[in-house]
Amino acid sequence: MADLIHSREYRQLRETLKAQWRGRNAPCALCGQADIQYDGVKNEPDSFELDHKISRKRCLAMGKPQLILDPGNCQPSHVRCNRSKQHGDGPVKIGETTEEW
Ligand SMILES: [Zn+2]
Repeated sequence: MADLIHSREYRQLRETLKAQWRGRNAPCALCGQADIQYDGVKNEPDSFELDHKISRKRCLAMGKPQLILDPGNCQPSHVRCNRSKQHGDGPVKIGETTEEW
């Protein structure tokens, strides 16, 4: 299911993990800086975004969409870091991406 990302399960997982990470001010897994704005404005560069260690695209390619909902495959990141990572991961269609680089 390519729409897992829009599922209620995913949203709940995201909120649960975000609350945990915010509680201990977890640093960005991509750049290591502990200045993620967990309550920042959505899509702002310094704001929080959930990153997948194994990208969603790759999970689907491997036929393991359940990995998208696996907390062990999730880590905190900045919007800016996550977006630049995705851009290096080939063409990825992200409905929420509005920024041009
Ligand atoms: Zn970062």
